Amino acid sequence: MPELPEVETTRRGLGPFIVGKSIESLEVREPRLRWPVPRDLDEKLSNRCIVRLGRRGKYLLIVTDGGTLVVHLGMSGSLRYLPEPRSPGVHDHVDIRFADGARLRFNDPRRFGSLHFSTEPLGHPLLRHLGPEPLGDKFDGEYLERACEGRRVAIKQHLMNGRVVAGIGNIYANEALFRAGIHPARQAGRIARRRLDQLAGTVRDVLNDALGQGGTTLRDFVASDGRPGYFKLSLEVYDREHAPCTRCGRPIRMRRLGQRATYYCAACQR
Ligand code: ZN
Repeated sequence: MPELPEVETTRRGLGPFIVGKSIESLEVREPRLRWPVPRDLDEKLSNRCIVRLGRRGKYLLIVTDGGTLVVHLGMSGSLRYLPEPRSPGVHDHVDIRFADGARLRFNDPRRFGSLHFSTEPLGHPLLRHLGPEPLGDKFDGEYLERACEGRRVAIKQHLMNGRVVAGIGNIYANEALFRAGIHPARQAGRIARRRLDQLAGTVRDVLNDALGQGGTTLRDFVASDGRPGYFKLSLEVYDREHAPCTRCGRPIRMRRLGQRATYYCAACQR
């Protein structure tokens, strides 16, 4: 499932291929995504030039000289650059056709992804309440202390709340809490500043580790068949129920927190 590092890798991987290109038209084969593809999207994007690619949380921002296409990859979405047209597969829902004949193709088997257009993307209803970027300089222990103060919600749920910090999904929340030695169910407001400093650091570390592994997959964004091989961080707790803890050897436990599978070591995380 594409999380923040995959979206950032997509941004870095696609940029060299599509920035500077002129959009001829949009081809929508299946508009029923998480939200319907806006009917006027073709009109909005046609004859526009892509000036840069940005990212906010898990949203990819394809910025043109006339507004921004806001892309969310959902559970299973991916974007692929095709230097030459080829016939679409069953899950290839949308193509952006460039003036030079190349295409950018959006594939999404589960259709939880979305495409929106906005002239002010950071003010878009989906984006405007997002908290700071976890890899940006506003996210640190001091910020977390303020964001957690008086909060009784479990720290893991708090961390996965986009208003607290943008784009931390389930896998990375599990891993960051393990590395920081913090129990995922601990109340957010009852964690000492020193430990929140640590947590801000481990959040960055797990994301950066995943990004480091993504570096080798950039060429996957061009033309090869199938979907990009989203990289898997070597995970210490996520999806490891009953397996031995990498630190103390005791079995990793699993429970549900806010419906989400939560993995932890009861001895190493407090
Ligand atoms: Zn342990």
